[in-house]
Amino acid sequence: MRLLTEHHRSAAARSAARVRGPDGGSPADRVLRLQRTAGNRAVTALVQRRGPHRLPEGAITSARLGELGTPEETAFRRRVYDAQQERALRTKRYFSGLTRAQLGSVDGSPIHKVAEPDARALVAAARADLKTDQDAGDALALACSAVGVGNAYRDPERDLRAWTRAYNKYFKATKKKREKLDDPFGDDAVAIVVKALIPKKAVPGFSNHTTGLAIDFSTVQGGVPLGPDAGQDELWAASWLYGWLGRRASEFRFTQLPSEKWHWDHAGGSPDATGDAATGRTTRSPAPTTAAAPATAAAPAGATARPGVTFGSRAVTSAVASSSLDILRDVLAAAGLTRATISSTARTATDQARAMYQNLVGRGRGQGVEAQLRLYGSAGDAVINVFVEKRDGGSTPDAIKAAMRDKIVELGPTRVSRHCGDPATLNVFDVAPSSLGDAAAQAAFVAAARGEEGGRVSRFIPYPDDPGHHFEIRP
Ligand SMILES: [Zn+2]
Repeated sequence: MRLLTEHHRSAAARSAARVRGPDGGSPADRVLRLQRTAGNRAVTALVQRRGPHRLPEGAITSARLGELGTPEETAFRRRVYDAQQERALRTKRYFSGLTRAQLGSVDGSPIHKVAEPDARALVAAARADLKTDQDAGDALALACSAVGVGNAYRDPERDLRAWTRAYNKYFKATKKKREKLDDPFGDDAVAIVVKALIPKKAVPGFSNHTTGLAIDFSTVQGGVPLGPDAGQDELWAASWLYGWLGRRASEFRFTQLPSEKWHWDHAGGSPDATGDAATGRTTRSPAPTTAAAPATAAAPAGATARPGVTFGSRAVTSAVASSSLDILRDVLAAAGLTRATISSTARTATDQARAMYQNLVGRGRGQGVEAQLRLYGSAGDAVINVFVEKRDGGSTPDAIKAAMRDKIVELGPTRVSRHCGDPATLNVFDVAPSSLGDAAAQAAFVAAARGEEGGRVSRFIPYPDDPGHHFEIRP
């Protein structure tokens, strides 16, 4: 697994170098540079502002955000970022993340070494107690098929990607409110988006996950995978794992973030817990571990055999090169898994319409009109609008799918979905989450796939951000 530090620091340095680049270039370049310079000025002002906390050298700033459709949109997103960052600095310090040497792992996710023994012991105890409760015939325990760690440490680079996704979501969600303003890109509009984002997603460097001391747990209760999703609050409250955490997590020095039932913070070595305003880079000396013995990470069975990959009925074997299959097998092996099923591959416009239709009428996570609008870009949204129009007009499923297909063809299939790409230049496929196993297996798989992202894998979108674990690989 590849874990931040050098790679990301140099990316930040490259970005900074671009900002300071010489004059010249195309007019578009100059506009870009002006925006970046403006963004940097705002950041400099922040750094110099008198207050409890300042941005450290190398912090991720709005200058790192890329281009949007129009210069207005690009500048707007940077102002939202700056405003949210400024708010965060009023009460918290920027944290730059951990070095490789500071990281351990729990259940396939990286975590601060200080919290690793407690975290492992907690997961082992939860699984042992689940088994005991199941053997005793406890109905709630019997309906719980997996407990594990969804994710723990996230470096600021990963949080930048997560923030960008959240921005897209809340930019869309606040559209009506913003459009009522005299200036839809003015300060009031910025404030509206910031207000929507603050309770949902921290700017990079301010998430508790960046200290490596937070865990988002995952579980499967009644066949439903539960993750970091506010929409699942009631399901979490009624889950076996949440009840267990309430009873026993404190033994392992974890406490719940009151606003999120899945998010628990470890007490040991938390820089913010002490209110000590250091640079934000130093790590406290390790806290004494509890008496509970750390669980050993047993080598998964069958890890020596080469993992098997099968294709679902909708997947086209010729759309995935053998070199891409090899990479998938490596990811499976790294996660200690033995098999996976590819549920979908590159699609024709007809296939794409059918797949979108299924996800629009589906009721699972990531499905339904709202979730799909968040997933797709503007071209995909246009196809979704056709679905809504035709459905509300009482068309039959076949007529709806035909109208969606026509819209896809009209827009250009590759603009709607990367799944419509040419398999000769980009292999696009989804791995069925159900083919991997329980929540722990999912987490291990996601961690292993993320380790390849940016290298042999050009893009990876985990379930439930995508309906399947989505891969894009250049063959
Ligand atoms: Zn969390």
